[in-house]
Amino acid sequence: MATPSHTAGADATTAPEAGNGRVLLITGASSGIGAATARAAVAAGWRVALAARRRDKLDALVAELGADRALAVAVDVTDLDDQTRMAETVVAHFGAIDAVFANAGTGGGPGGFAAAPVDGWRRMVDVNILGCAYTLRACLPAIKDRRGHVLITGSVAGRRTIAGSFYAATKWAVSAIGYGLREEVRGTGVRVTLIEPGVVDTAFFDDPKPDGLRPEDVARSVLYALSQPATVDVHEVMVLPTPPRDA
Ligand code: NDP
Repeated sequence: MATPSHTAGADATTAPEAGNGRVLLITGASSGIGAATARAAVAAGWRVALAARRRDKLDALVAELGADRALAVAVDVTDLDDQTRMAETVVAHFGAIDAVFANAGTGGGPGGFAAAPVDGWRRMVDVNILGCAYTLRACLPAIKDRRGHVLITGSVAGRRTIAGSFYAATKWAVSAIGYGLREEVRGTGVRVTLIEPGVVDTAFFDDPKPDGLRPEDVARSVLYALSQPATVDVHEVMVLPTPPRDA
């Protein structure tokens, strides 16, 4: 029988894998998908570093999850120096980064290419595209040290056509970052997973989305990818709400 070609983190031959104290850094951890993923990861045995701008939200989550399992790091993902400090802080505190979930993101206003406010376009480029790329720049050395795992929140909007959506354009870029990174790290043992949700009921929207996914639904997708043995590379998880039943 063939021997697995690489072993990252924990035992490469058994699934599903528990976190076993491994370290997951999550950007955009102060709410929504990131916060739900932090809760699910700690329940699965991971230690988590929680990164976002709103320190009060992060501190509340650390208090909930336990200071032995969770660390808060205030960061603006649009600032590469901030992200470099974030990665250094996590390595200094926990000793490693086994997985990073580049999840911070933001949306824009309505109006399409004809009329949407262009300051929103700039913000989405800075947060969704550059913020993601900066997370990779800051974390890849530590991730490579551990033959670890990069997960990135793209979107179904980054895989399908959405009329007039600059947000979708940024998420197409995020999909491309994930595809390009996977080729860049081929042969290093590092795995890359794009998480591609449909509508999720989070603070991303001004109004509730009762027919959308719950953030916990997306968190389970993240944990599915994270819990595979090192020989299994989950490339993409597109997770959508089941269409409402016909009346
Ligand atoms: P939330 O608004 O609940 O969460 C967004 C997170 O991003 C917050 O933790 C926020 O933290 C963080 N963030 C935003 N800007 C910055 C910044 N400059 N620096 C650091 N952190 C930042 O929305 P979701 O949980 O829904 O969004 C998470 C990801 O999921 C995003 O990438 C989004 O594009 C994506 N997505 C969302 C979908 C949905 O329907 N909700 C569908 C598909 C993808 P803080 O404000 O504290 O900095």
